[in-house]
Amino acid sequence: MAGSGAFIAPMALASVAADKQPESCIGCHSCEKVCPQTIHIPEELKKFATKMGR
Ligand code: SF4
Repeated sequence: MAGSGAFIAPMALASVAADKQPESCIGCHSCEKVCPQTIHIPEELKKFATKMGR
């Protein structure tokens, strides 16, 4: 992650409840079934969590 996101994302995550953190995704794929952008959300959350050092 580069730019201001590298600074802001960790601060934003600090305000999110522990059970709502990106690594809390259980990979059920329910969100993908309704996502109009067909984003592979569990995979993206996993990548994001890794970038955040989780
Ligand atoms: S796959 Fe989607 S709906 Fe299921 S836990 Fe992860 S983010 Fe939530």
